[in-house]
Amino acid sequence: MPAAATELLRRHGVQVTAQRVAIMRAVSARPHATADEVTEDVRAIIGSISRQAVYDSLGVLVDKHLVRRIQPAGSPARFEDRVGDNHHHLICRTCGTTVDIACAVGEVPCLTAQDDHGFVIDEAEVIYWGICRPCRKGAATRSSKRATASNTSSNTTNKSRNKEQS
Ligand SMILES: [Zn+2]
Ligand SMILES: [Zn+2]
Repeated sequence: MPAAATELLRRHGVQVTAQRVAIMRAVSARPHATADEVTEDVRAIIGSISRQAVYDSLGVLVDKHLVRRIQPAGSPARFEDRVGDNHHHLICRTCGTTVDIACAVGEVPCLTAQDDHGFVIDEAEVIYWGICRPCRKGAATRSSKRATASNTSSNTTNKSRNKEQS
């Protein structure tokens, strides 16, 4: 068992199991992986493990602040072991590529709420959304192809409407 992961689990009061160590290794080898990707990678390390077991262990590791869960809108949760800072994420709307963005302020909450409504605010969750360079290039080639082939495809809507009426 890798000493670092074992030691981290112990220090955070998490019972050390081969599964948890493998999950820690998988998460740190592939930052921002989904639970399914973590499952794949863990299976490559220790052989068979159920999806549910991976989900449960990830939950424990998140609760113990060994793993951070990011939940981008419209996407499955992603996991990473970079937990010690207040970094943000930049996500491609097309392919889901996720990169870390250092926080310009450095500590939580890095945005000031105009009115805190009496809350003690401890975090401002920031996700930057955009289109990555490979996807922008891909879109450019696709749309130039589409422009030349656009008037060959149309009258399917009429057909399906007729079917509904009959
Ligand atoms: Zn992309
Ligand atoms: Zn990150």
